[in-house]
Amino acid sequence: MSENPADSATFDALGLSSNVLKAVVDAGYQKPTPIQAQAIPFVLMGRDILGSAQTGTGKTASFTLPMIDILAQGRARARMPRSLILTPTRELAAQIAENFQIYGKYNKLTMALLIGGESFGPQIEKLDRGVDVLIATPGRLIDHFERGRILLTDVKILVIDEADRMLDMGFIPDVERIVGFLPRIRQTLFFSATFPPEVKRLADKFLMNPKEITVSRMSSAAETVEHSFFRCSGRDAEKRAAFRALLGSEDVKNALVFCNRKRDVDVLAKSLRRHGFSVAPLHGDMAQSARTETLEAFKAGKITYLVATDVAGRGLDIQGMSHVFNFDVPFHAEDYVHRIGRTGRAGAKGRAITLATPDDAKFIAAIERLLGKTIPITTIEGFVSPQATGDDGARPDRSRGRSRKSREPSGRGERSRNDRPAAPAEPAADENAGVAQPREPVAAREHDDSDQKSRRSGGRDSRSRGKPRRERQDDSREEDKVVAFGDHMPAFLSREVRIRND
Ligand code: ADP
Ligand code: MG
Repeated sequence: MSENPADSATFDALGLSSNVLKAVVDAGYQKPTPIQAQAIPFVLMGRDILGSAQTGTGKTASFTLPMIDILAQGRARARMPRSLILTPTRELAAQIAENFQIYGKYNKLTMALLIGGESFGPQIEKLDRGVDVLIATPGRLIDHFERGRILLTDVKILVIDEADRMLDMGFIPDVERIVGFLPRIRQTLFFSATFPPEVKRLADKFLMNPKEITVSRMSSAAETVEHSFFRCSGRDAEKRAAFRALLGSEDVKNALVFCNRKRDVDVLAKSLRRHGFSVAPLHGDMAQSARTETLEAFKAGKITYLVATDVAGRGLDIQGMSHVFNFDVPFHAEDYVHRIGRTGRAGAKGRAITLATPDDAKFIAAIERLLGKTIPITTIEGFVSPQATGDDGARPDRSRGRSRKSREPSGRGERSRNDRPAAPAEPAADENAGVAQPREPVAAREHDDSDQKSRRSGGRDSRSRGKPRRERQDDSREEDKVVAFGDHMPAFLSREVRIRND
């Protein structure tokens, strides 16, 4: 952690009101996290903030706490929110709203949420009455703005949360448009875990003389996380068997399991369920009601394993998660950091466990570069990979090199058996059409569909017509990414040590 004197600060010393301090005590927080200690006094002074901190470092309270005090003076006018928080996914938006409720319990602030997948009615009524805080995903906000339901001319504070994820999801053009609707004189708080060039450009454009706060990459969350990588076969059924062996050897209280693709989320969740694990899938093709229900059940401890994609798992704040599993090594090293940020949060110990196939060498090398250390990969103790029989309750095994088209979950025989998907899938076709092109390497990611849907209803989808579904595009690109070693096993795949991060 940094040597900043603010690190030893107490909440009392930050200049927050007694109402907010009382709520913080009620929340059980003993002392501010480094980003909170460093940001809060400057936010209260009205300064712009450029915050760089990985997930799990307490960024939300670093802007919500001082905002509550700033907004305590003054009143909202009809349809004219006084502050705006832009966030990439509906789950994050909901979490921020929860934070405002917890910390703002002794204040009387009003708040509305504009997020994809929820009905408008009640939120519109709130907006019509006037809100202090508007929390929104970009597409949905533009939708409402274009229908004349909101005026953004009274926004005094703008928060852009998870800017790098906005970039990944292709939301930057929307964010730029929205900022264009806001008054030039305002306070802007900008947060991102990473700063690729496009995010830097935005920060330069939106911020005025910002106070820059950096909480170093491998601090807080990661310090309490123990990372382990286990070698396994790249064949589907064998990989799932290896995964079950791993689960069996760990003392798991509750865990997120990440897959790189939506369809693998369903396949893995079904397979685990057939093997008696308490598990549910979470991804962007599920109806919002099903996503919310699944999350609630997981938070309530009714489900042990939540299998998710990066987008669905992004920013989920679930207390005391004992493990994060990467069923797939993420294609992007930064996603590794985000994923493992789901465990070891707020000082708790956590385990991050990754399955590594020979195809993953390139991605592991990228993670090593990002973390600045080598990652030893071990074998799973006592595990003997079964022959690929395809009888593990999911789809038949196929070798990696085959065309991915034949592996679409809609393919015959794979949806059969007695396992229905846990949640009704919304029609997925064209869902991702109309996305502003994200930067290239993101092709293989899932895109949160909420905003795309609302855009279509905004009538701006013409440019996407006739384009193939993104998933198909992903398939072809994904194949370019496969690396095979033949007989040449890279050194890191044959090292035998388990690392502890200390
Ligand atoms: P980030 O946005 O940086 O990913 P969050 O704001 O979601 O992080 O916070 C991560 C977790 O840490 C949450 O569970 C939150 O309640 C908790 N938390 C935040 N601030 C503190 C604090 N000062 N002391 C203890 N826990 C905190
Ligand atoms: Mg956050």
